This record gives sequence, structure tokens and C-alpha cells, in this order.
Amino acid sequence: MSPKPDLKSIIIEQILLDGPLSIADYMRLCLTHPTLGYYTTREPFGVSGDFITAPEVSQMFGELIGIWCLDQWQKLGEPNRIQLVELGPGRGTLINDLLRSAKVRPAFFDAIELHLVEVSPRLQDIQAQTLEASGKRPGFARGFSDIGDGPMLIVGNEFLDALPFQQFIKTPTGWLERVVGTADGELRFQTGTATASISDMAIANNVPEGTIVEISPARTTMIEQIVERLSKSGGSAILIDYGCNRPGTGDTFQALYKQKPAHPLERSGEQDLTNHVDFCSLIETAKKCGCKSRLKTQREFLLEYGLLERAGALGANASPNTQNDIRAAVERLAGPSEMGDLFKVLEIRSDRGAFDQETV
Ligand code: SAH
Repeated sequence: MSPKPDLKSIIIEQILLDGPLSIADYMRLCLTHPTLGYYTTREPFGVSGDFITAPEVSQMFGELIGIWCLDQWQKLGEPNRIQLVELGPGRGTLINDLLRSAKVRPAFFDAIELHLVEVSPRLQDIQAQTLEASGKRPGFARGFSDIGDGPMLIVGNEFLDALPFQQFIKTPTGWLERVVGTADGELRFQTGTATASISDMAIANNVPEGTIVEISPARTTMIEQIVERLSKSGGSAILIDYGCNRPGTGDTFQALYKQKPAHPLERSGEQDLTNHVDFCSLIETAKKCGCKSRLKTQREFLLEYGLLERAGALGANASPNTQNDIRAAVERLAGPSEMGDLFKVLEIRSDRGAFDQETV
């Protein structure tokens, strides 16, 4: 029997046949290859995995997103049917905690039709199991067009950063795409073909040679689809990710393996690949398509929706050990040197008069 092929060999074979891959194509293969991809085959989350996401830190995170959803439902006039969609639900922890807190208003809970958008069949099974006692049975959708009419609430935590991006580098001969090639049986970054589109971008002017710019057409398309759907049927989206709130340049391609940074071209398919989400360009996209958006830090958002009050209630009759755990979770989620400032919360609403204080 021939040994099981590994993803790196498959990628090298493809590069030798067809030429180098864009970083986006490399990332797509590594994360979502049907039999050898990271999300399709591995268990990335939690203490024994490669990274810990906010819903895995504490139930309070999903609960407060649930209170946000309740708030949006009320602003929509409390419709008796609402399409609730989670993008990239991981283990299903966030949505399970969200549904529990939604029960504080039974009419809201009853109105929810639940849809999960998840590329990995393995994770779909885990999500269905997590939700077994939730009182809601999820439908699995490939995108918004699979989901019925009516107002929609869209939630996504660390989803956008899993969508592929590309890099371009300024050279003496102009902007070239940074690609993944091969040499000596290993994967290597190389420069590919020239591109005119980057030199049109404002950020491309007055930067020195060697500067790297990152763009993500996949994330832009996702925001366009969200805005199109919200504009058509009403509703709101909340997308949480780590990233920047002002335009910038530089290489933020990053791999995580067992909670430590690793080289993105090593262990293909066995480690998480991400880069910083460029919230500025996503806000521009939402604006162009007629929706308003608001960006906050995770700390600002969680404090506004009652993190400290929820922590106090959870800890009230708890043991000193549990109280310490709750305090540590608050610090992890909202502390400025932890996730509080690095992670940003992007809210998008269909309604033009959407936000009391609009920040963008
Ligand atoms: N939201 C979860 C998991 C974040 S990891 C949490 O916070 O814990 C990214 C999630 O997005 C995983 O569930 C992954 O399988 C899923 N995903 C990645 N690319 C996707 C795509 N193109 N379409 C749908 N789901 C995707």
C-alpha cells in the first residue's frame, strides 16, 4: 500500500506542474482541503489545540453576543421570525451560549430560525452535538442564498481571518504579487507577476521598496454579500476578529501551532493560518453598498453589553476558585494587554439611522 500523501507534497507537485500559488490559494488549500485541510481534519480549539478563541475562554462571551442579538431584534420591531446565522461556528460553543441567554426573552428565542455556515463536515457534526440540548436544531447553509426570507442576524467570531488573502511587494520594477513557490523540496516565498491594481491604491504611494501590502478579495466579497442581504431584508451583523482600525502596510501572515507562532509555509494543513483583518477596507465596502457600520474594541463592546455585571452575577454564590476563574476570564477577554484591544468588533446594520453614536 502506498503511504498516505501529505499536503505539502501535493502542493509542491502542483507548483511544479502549474507554477507558484498565490498566498490565497495556498491558504485555501491548507485550511479547507477536503481530506487534508486544517479545519477539515484537526481539532484546533482549546487548551490542547493551537488557539483559544473568546467563546472557549468563557460562556460570558456568547451570552453577551446573545444580548446584542436580543437588542437588534428589539430594534427591528420584534419580528416573530428571525434568521440567525453563525459564520464559522467552530465547536458551536458561542451559539450554544448565545441561545441560552436568548431565553431571557422567550418570544425572541421562539422567533429564531438557526443556520450555521461551516466548511468542515467534521465540525458540522460537533456543532450539531453541542446544540443537542439547546432547543434549536440548526440548518447547515453554504451561504445566504440557501436561507429563507426575513430579517437576519449574522454572527461571526474569528471567521473573517480564516478567509484567504493575498500579498504584494514593492520592487524596483513595480508591485509584484508575493507567491508560494518551491526550491530544494521545500516551500518558499517568491515574487510573482506584476500587478497594476495595487499601484492604484492610496496606500501604495510614497512607500519604500520592500513594502508589503495585503488585500483580501474573499473578505470584501463576504461583506458585500452580508450587506446585500441586510439591505434586502433588514437586520444586523456582528463580526469579531483581530485586526487593525486604520490602513497599514506590512506582513501580518501568521501561523499558530500549539499556541505558538510558527512559519506559515511549514506543516501545511497542520497549523492555523491567518493575517490581521483590515477593518478599514471592510467598513469602506459596507459604506459603498449603503450600510452603516461601527467599530469598537472587544473591551468597549463587552463592557457596554454588561461583562462586569454578568461576571458579578456568575460569581455571586460561587466558590473562591470559580470566582478567580471568572476574574481571569474577564481579564483575558477585555484586558487591554490581552484580547481587549487587539480584537475589534464590527457591527453592520441595514437601517440608516442605525446607531446612536456612529463611529464610522
Ligand atoms: N467561531 C469559532 C471558530 C473560529 S475558527 C470560535 O470563535 O471558536 C474559524 C471557523 O470558520 C471554523 O469553524 C472553520 O471551519 C470555519 N471556516 C473557515 N473557512 C470557512 C469557509 N470558507 N466557509 C465556512 N466556514 C469556514
